[in-house]
Amino acid sequence: MTFNDDARIDTSRASKRSGGRKGGIAIGGGLGAVALVLLGQLLGVDLSGLTGGGGSAGDGATTESLDRCADASLANTDTECRMVGTADSLDDFWSQTYPALTQAEYRPSHVTLFEDAVGTACGNATSAVGPFYCPGDEEIYLDVAFFEDLRTRLGADGGAFAQMYVVAHEWGHHVSHLTGAMAAADRSGTGPTSDAVRLELQADCYAGAWAAAAATTTDDQGVTLIEPPTDAQIADALDAAAAVGDDRIQEAATGQVSPESWTHGSAEQRQRWFTAGYEGGPAACTTFEVAGTDL
Ligand SMILES: [Zn+2]
Repeated sequence: MTFNDDARIDTSRASKRSGGRKGGIAIGGGLGAVALVLLGQLLGVDLSGLTGGGGSAGDGATTESLDRCADASLANTDTECRMVGTADSLDDFWSQTYPALTQAEYRPSHVTLFEDAVGTACGNATSAVGPFYCPGDEEIYLDVAFFEDLRTRLGADGGAFAQMYVVAHEWGHHVSHLTGAMAAADRSGTGPTSDAVRLELQADCYAGAWAAAAATTTDDQGVTLIEPPTDAQIADALDAAAAVGDDRIQEAATGQVSPESWTHGSAEQRQRWFTAGYEGGPAACTTFEVAGTDL
């Protein structure tokens, strides 16, 4: 999706943390070389890879604003500014949509960009964990270098959308946290109809709901933030949703598919729920209400 060059981005929904201490964090495992695996790792809400009680990786870290991203044209060329612009659009969408959906008060999330390591209320994380949502502080954590790598691997257009999709998916987890669905879910199980998969498909559905309405989100002056998606961009969106299916990722990584260990859902499930949100809005994201056979 393309930002409107004439818009002004509200940069308050994202910031960048630099200089976090890396020592003392023990998270093993390198990143997979396959882009699909890489993208799959981006979309987890699984925080089991985090260590410690939080905070220490932030020792000595400084937080800087991303005010330089206020000109929306930068969101089309600069990864950090694309994240800032996407967060602004997501906040505009959900601040209007959430109260109508739930009759409850909305609280914004916040995107924290980091390099190497970051301390969070959910523990310490390195870029190896992949971007994630922490319900403890209601923030989304994204490693910038990881994102640029993703964009390089997926190509300029598909990669740019994939980056925005990741932020929208993580903001979707924030919405499930606000509604209480995340706390109510039993996240210990796996498999195609597990609560873990229902939570992930709900985030995909919420991402689809935002994607459909992104072209209606505006800046403070009422100027449209994002141009309506083209057919090719919608096709990219569905490709991205399929690429992160557990079956595709397992197939790419091991050559075998084991549905009983799924945590995010199949390519078909992820495409279908993204589409459900795209066509039906957030009210269609009933992943915890449908029978397993309809999931
Ligand atoms: Zn997720």
